Amino acid sequence: MITQNLGYPRIGSQRELKKACEQYWAGRDSQKNLLSTARNIRKQNWQTHKDAGIDLIPCNDFSFYDQVLDTCLMTGAIPSRYSPVLAEEKNTNELDLYFAMARGYQKNNLDITAMEMTKWFDTNYHYIVPEFVKDQEFSFFSEKVVHDFYEAKEFLGFTPKPVIIGPVSFLLLGKEKEDGFHRLDLLDRLLPVYEQALEKLAAMGAEYVQFDEPILVMNLSDRERAAIKKVYENFRKKFPQLKTILTTYFECTGDNLKTAAELPVCVLHLDLVRCPSQLDDILKTGFANKNTILSVGVVDGRNIWKNDYEKSLTFIKKAVDALGKDRVIIAPSCSLLHVPYDLDLEKNEAVLSAEVKNWMAFAKQKLHEVSDLRKLADPEFSGDKEALLNKNKKAIESRKNSELVHNKIVKQRVEKLSAADAQRKSRFGQRQLVQQEQFNLPLMPTTTIGSFPQTTDIRKLRASYKKKEISLEDYEAQLKEETKKAIKWQEDVGLDVLVHGEFERNDMVEYFGELLNGYVFTENGWVQSYGSRCVKPPIIYGDVERKAPMTVKWATYAQSLTDKPVKGMLTGPVTMLQWSFVRDDQPRKDTALQLALAIRDEVVDLENAGINIIQIDEPAFREGLPLRRENWENYLNWAVNAFKVASCGVKDETQIHTHMCYSEFNDIITSIADMDADVITIETSRSQMELLEAFTSFKYPNEIGPGVYDIHSPRVPAVEEMTFLLEKALDVLPSKNLWVNPDCGLKTRKWPETEAALKNMVKAAGKLREEIKAPANI
Ligand code: GLN
Ligand code: ZN
Repeated sequence: MITQNLGYPRIGSQRELKKACEQYWAGRDSQKNLLSTARNIRKQNWQTHKDAGIDLIPCNDFSFYDQVLDTCLMTGAIPSRYSPVLAEEKNTNELDLYFAMARGYQKNNLDITAMEMTKWFDTNYHYIVPEFVKDQEFSFFSEKVVHDFYEAKEFLGFTPKPVIIGPVSFLLLGKEKEDGFHRLDLLDRLLPVYEQALEKLAAMGAEYVQFDEPILVMNLSDRERAAIKKVYENFRKKFPQLKTILTTYFECTGDNLKTAAELPVCVLHLDLVRCPSQLDDILKTGFANKNTILSVGVVDGRNIWKNDYEKSLTFIKKAVDALGKDRVIIAPSCSLLHVPYDLDLEKNEAVLSAEVKNWMAFAKQKLHEVSDLRKLADPEFSGDKEALLNKNKKAIESRKNSELVHNKIVKQRVEKLSAADAQRKSRFGQRQLVQQEQFNLPLMPTTTIGSFPQTTDIRKLRASYKKKEISLEDYEAQLKEETKKAIKWQEDVGLDVLVHGEFERNDMVEYFGELLNGYVFTENGWVQSYGSRCVKPPIIYGDVERKAPMTVKWATYAQSLTDKPVKGMLTGPVTMLQWSFVRDDQPRKDTALQLALAIRDEVVDLENAGINIIQIDEPAFREGLPLRRENWENYLNWAVNAFKVASCGVKDETQIHTHMCYSEFNDIITSIADMDADVITIETSRSQMELLEAFTSFKYPNEIGPGVYDIHSPRVPAVEEMTFLLEKALDVLPSKNLWVNPDCGLKTRKWPETEAALKNMVKAAGKLREEIKAPANI
C-alpha cells in the first residue's frame, strides 16, 4: 500500500512568498530574490513530504499566485488585452506577464485590467477565472510544469508526481468572453497542448501524473460527462506508459460516480471525508472487477482536526478487503492548500492551550497522519502499532469528553428552541407601520453599512492595545473619541440612520469570536485566500456561548451622542460559521444555532439598551450553498432558521436589518424573503441595479437598500449618477420600501472620498424626495 498527497500550501510557513511577492511588486526587490524565495519554499515542502514518508510527492502544486492562472499560462490562454505587455521592450518575462494577468498592469502608458477572480468551489480560496473567445487558440506557452518536475526530481532523487488541473475542469471553470460558442467546444483545440506537456514529462521519466477534475462533484450535463470520458480515454491511448491519477474532492460525485468509476485512469481519488458513503457506492459499481487503484481521501484537507485513526482504518480496511492492498492508496481528502502549514509553530500556550492544540493537525501533521495510517494498515509493519494507535485514541477521547467542548446549558437551550423563537411577533406589514411611527424617518432614509475608514492611526491603536502597550482605559477613551467624531461627522453629512463606525473591530468575525466561548485563535494559522492575501480563520472548537454583552457599550455610547437613531451592528450566525474552521463533531447546523443564540442575546440586550435598529450582517450567506443542487434546500432551511433565531427575539418596533454584498440573488430569493429582515441592504451599483430584478420579479415584500455606489474604488460618484440609479430602483420598488446606502462598509476607504461620496448620496436622496413630493408635470 502506498501514500500520496494531492497538494501543499505554498505561501511558505512564515508567509515568505507573500512578503517576497509584495516586495517585488512594489519594486523593492529583484525578481532573482523572488525566484529564490519560491525555490526555497518548494524545497522545504518536498523535504517535509520526504520526512513524513509520503510516496507520491506532488510537484507543480506550487504557484506564484494561483494554480488556475498557471494553467492559463501553460495552455497559452492569455487574453488579447495583455499582448502589449508581452510586446513591452523592457524584456517583459513570463512572470511579469503572469502578474499582469493576476493584478492588472499600469505602467508605461498602459492600463490593462486584471482577470476576474472567484471562489474555488466552496472554499475561501479565490482563483483567476480563465477567459475564452470563440476562436481561442492554445499553445504550450509556459513550461513551468516541466521545470517543477525537473527541479523536484533533482531535489528528491526520485520521481515526483506533477499535478495539473484537468482540461475539462479548466474549461468549465472559465468564462466565454463572447457569444456564439460554449467553452467546452474548445476541448479539441486544448487537448494537443496537454499532450505536449505530457510528452515532455514522459520523456523526462514521469511516472504518475495527477489530474484534478473537481468539476466531477458538481451537477454535470451528459455532454460534460462525455467530455471527461473522452479526455482520459485519449490520454490512456496516447500515453499508455503514464499512470494517470484522477482526483475529485470537496463533495460526493453523486450522479457522476459511475462516470468516474469507469474512467480509464490508473488511480481514482475520492474525498471520503466530505462524502464517506462514496466508498460503499463505488464498490457497488463493479469497480472491484477492474484494475483501477482507489485513492482513499481519509485525512481532512479542509479542516484542522486530528484524524481519528480508528475511523479512517475502517475505510481503509473496507477498501483493502474489496480491492486488495495493491489497489489502495492512502491520501488526504484534497489538497492541503486549505489548512495552515504547521501546528508546531503554535508555541504560545496563552493563545492555544496544550489541551486544545493536541486535538489539531495542520498540513505537516496531516502528512504524518497519512503515513501513520499506512503503517497501521500494513500487516507487515514491524513498529509499535499499539502505541501509535493509543496515542491517537487518547487525543480523540480527550476532545470528545472535554469540558472545554461541552456546555450543558447551551445544548439545552438549543434543544428547547421552538418554531416561535424563529418568528417575529407580527407580519412585516404590521411591523412596518409601527416602525414608521416609532422612527419617523424621511422617505427613502439614508444610512451606511457599518464601518468607517480604518485609518493607520486606528490600526496602530488596536495593535498597541493588543501588545499591551496602552491600558484598556486609554484604548477605550481613544475609541470613544473616534466614535464621537464619526457621529458628529454623520450628522454634518446629513445621514438619517447613523452607525458607530466599528473602530474597535479588526475583522467582523474575529471581533465576535474573541468575545465568545468556544472559539480559539492561532498565531500562525495562515491560509491563502488569493494571491499574496492570507487569512487566519478563527477556530470553533466547543459549544458557543456569549460571555457578556459584546457591542452594547459602543452602540449606546454612540446613541448617547445624537438624537438620530444609531444602528447596532452584528455579524450573523451563518457568516460566523462560514468564515471559521468549524467543529467536525457535530453538524454545521447545530453550531449555527449556538451562534444564533449568542447573537440573539446580543440583539435583545441592544434592544433593552435603547438601540432599536439592529443590523445583522450575512455577507457569507450565499457562500454556504452546497456544491450540489440537491443539497441546497436543506442548507437554506437551516441557514434561514439560524438567522431568524438570531433576529426574532425583539419587539415589532425594533427594526432588523441585514446586509449581503454579492450580486446573485435570483436562485435564493425565496430564502432571502424567508429571513424576514425588515430591511436588507445589498450590493447593486456595479450591476447598475440589474440585480434588483430578482427582488422585483419575486415581489420581495420588505424594505430594500440597493447600494448606490461602489465602495471598492476611491471614485466619488456624482449626485446625478446616484439619482439615476435610484430612479431605476423607484421604477420597480415602492418608495416607502426604499433605502439609500452604499454597496458595503467603508473601512477600506479614506475619509475625504467617503465624505464627498456620502454628501452626494444624501443630496441624491433629498432630490428624489422633492421630486416625489412635487411630481413634475409631464
Ligand atoms: N458591517 C460590516 C462593515 O461595514 C459589513 C462588512 C461586509 O459586508 N463584509 O464593514
Ligand atoms: Zn458588504
